[in-house]
Amino acid sequence: MKIFIATKNLNKLKEFNRILTPLGFEVLSIRDFEKEFPEVEETGTTFAENALLKARAGLEFTGLISVSDDSGICVDYLGGRPGIYSARYAGEPCDDLKNLYKLLEELEGVPYEKRTGKYVSTIACVFPDGREVTVSGECHGLIAEYPEGNGGFGYDPIFISEKGRVSLITPEEKDEISHRGKALRLFSEELKKYL
Ligand code: IMP
Repeated sequence: MKIFIATKNLNKLKEFNRILTPLGFEVLSIRDFEKEFPEVEETGTTFAENALLKARAGLEFTGLISVSDDSGICVDYLGGRPGIYSARYAGEPCDDLKNLYKLLEELEGVPYEKRTGKYVSTIACVFPDGREVTVSGECHGLIAEYPEGNGGFGYDPIFISEKGRVSLITPEEKDEISHRGKALRLFSEELKKYL
């Protein structure tokens, strides 16, 4: 079955592909279409609202079942920030490295026991007949004091998960424990009920 992934983030797309393709889905992305996917303004106040905005734009763009993820990092010491603003934490245009260093700056001097946080991914799926579904996954961990490693993307060089620093584990290990991996597996279960 064809599924359109409404994202311009190639790192996310890779993760969607890795998990959904073995489950039997034919994953299509903006690269499979000649016209340009519009910029979607993330005006929602929750991960779910923003994920739905992007998935609806995907359906409008392709007419296909469309899926999107809105994700971010929520740090306990910062009252859950940057949360839905994770991509634009250090301002626009989005810059992963600037965001990561801004977070390290905000946590400067904070001891390890208070550096807890989680990644959150909410996946929205919209169907041509108007049905909509959202599911979420979380990955809990600690925010390191300095970055290390080149794997993954975004905040991975400073995020220490149960399997270790996410930038240093394999993509398969990341999928097993990641917020997006968990949400995608839940989503694939949910999808069976809808089809
Ligand atoms: P979105 O594209 O608006 O959902 O923004 C998600 C932002 O959250 C990204 O730009 C990353 O900074 C961060 N993020 C989400 N998922 C991950 C992940 O798996 N690893 C590292 N950072 C992530």
